[in-house]
Amino acid sequence: SRSGFCKSNSTFYTKRSPMGLPANPSLDVTTFISSQPHCGTTAFIDAATGHTLSFSDLWRAVDRVAECLHRDVGIRRGDVVLVLSPNSIYIPVVCLSVMSLGAVVTTANTLNTPGEISRQIADSNPTVAFTTVQLASKLPAGISVVLLTEEEERVEPTRGVVVVGVVSEMMRKEPRGQRVRDRVEQDDTAVMLYSSGTTGPSKGVVSSHKNLTAYVARMLTETSMHGTLICTVPMFHTYGLLTFAMATVALGSTVVILRRFELNDMMAAVEKHRATTLLLAPPVLVAMVNEADSIKAKYDLSSLKTVRCGGAPLSKEATEGFLEKYPTVHILQAYALTESNGGGAFIDTVEDSRRFGTSGLLTCDVEARIVDPDTGRFMGINQTGELWLKGPTIAKGYFKNKEATNETINSEGWLKTGDLCYIDEDGFVFVVDRLKELIKYKGYQVPPAELEALLITHPDILDAAVIPFPDKEAGQYPMAYVTRKVGSNLSEKQVIDFISKQVAPYKKIRKVAFINSIPKTPSGKTLRKDLIKLATSKL
Ligand code: AMP
Repeated sequence: SRSGFCKSNSTFYTKRSPMGLPANPSLDVTTFISSQPHCGTTAFIDAATGHTLSFSDLWRAVDRVAECLHRDVGIRRGDVVLVLSPNSIYIPVVCLSVMSLGAVVTTANTLNTPGEISRQIADSNPTVAFTTVQLASKLPAGISVVLLTEEEERVEPTRGVVVVGVVSEMMRKEPRGQRVRDRVEQDDTAVMLYSSGTTGPSKGVVSSHKNLTAYVARMLTETSMHGTLICTVPMFHTYGLLTFAMATVALGSTVVILRRFELNDMMAAVEKHRATTLLLAPPVLVAMVNEADSIKAKYDLSSLKTVRCGGAPLSKEATEGFLEKYPTVHILQAYALTESNGGGAFIDTVEDSRRFGTSGLLTCDVEARIVDPDTGRFMGINQTGELWLKGPTIAKGYFKNKEATNETINSEGWLKTGDLCYIDEDGFVFVVDRLKELIKYKGYQVPPAELEALLITHPDILDAAVIPFPDKEAGQYPMAYVTRKVGSNLSEKQVIDFISKQVAPYKKIRKVAFINSIPKTPSGKTLRKDLIKLATSKL
């Protein structure tokens, strides 16, 4: 077909211009990105301070920070470093430096509680944390910290943590002596982002330099990512990190970074910087629709051409509302998961954006299968089943978790996405439903298993199950079904309060129903679909 879509036996794929993955086995992704020819001039602008990094500033900074991290902080190949920070122009600098040393970047959601962050630290065992003065208080005592702070901000000694460096100072250091570096292999781990996958709690997704190099190589072929982009999506998530610390740098695009999402700040940044592209998750697009009249009255959005939307399903209602309010702006959807490093589905052209309901054309870096979840049978065009993906961007597996790895990636390398999809005759992917437990609140991952584990520690709770409840603004929120112990008159509010004290705000349980027993399969697995049906039957 026109799109290059092909089918061979049970496998679907999209053929486009050959990607040419580098053959050199000792190539780190930072070097691959830095060697791309482009004519961009400004790499990053901090929307709040106006601090600007040109591409030459950026690469000088990466080199100097890498040198300081190696020489003064002692970071070596294989070391894990944690980034806990709101969006900042220092994040791409740090990530590219760390990866050039063969060390591994892991990130944490800034909204997480100190307890949640400590658990992730215990799992990933970082040698250093890159964080801000404000967020350092969320870290466990004794940890070594490199601060990501503006030069004019006075560095307060933060209690408990040991400050071993400041990135803005490292960037200004004159280079010294010879560069001694470990050799980095493409198979080495480059990043480890946390995701709950199809089941259970959050786990470290191990992605190699090869995975990320393949991702960047594919993004170099996507023309819609050129121009001036606004970054409000969190850089601790795969969507923000891969796009803004890697793809846009390789493409030579300009990125205006906002610390966090705020609708008016985002629109003011579009006007001020004449931005062409916004990168969003569906809830932000919904907010743009709801506030359209006041936004359009206040800001000149004439430069805006496209809105890239991904991370969660976008409703037909939101799409139609958006196109009515912003008729000159195109929505380009994308579908991927942490485990696929950008591989999945992507829309790149205005023409394709007119296909409603699809999450995009199968990306040319993956092969796909649609598999009947009950029988394991491979399905054909336009038939619905679980989407499986295979290709060079698919992560190596979960950190220190063979069992979860084997459940998710089979021996032939197929990643089971846990998403129920179909693929049409032109190669467009339609996400129909989610098979896996995962709840997405405003695009943030909420693993039900984590909330269930907390619920059953309550002395009045015998059993519990957490499911997604549909919501127009957030997409979904966590709802709990709770079985009380005999004689207990535990209330909905008590359950909600018990959890909200222990978790980040986006993980809060927002609705509770009491039930005599949680429906289960004979083997003891919760029948979530039955509970979802029960919860939504009244809607
Ligand atoms: P994450 O690993 O946090 O990126 O979450 C990945 C999951 O988000 C996917 O497996 C889907 O369930 C969901 N998702 C991401 N993008 C889309 C999309 N465009 N349409 C529907 N669901 C999506």
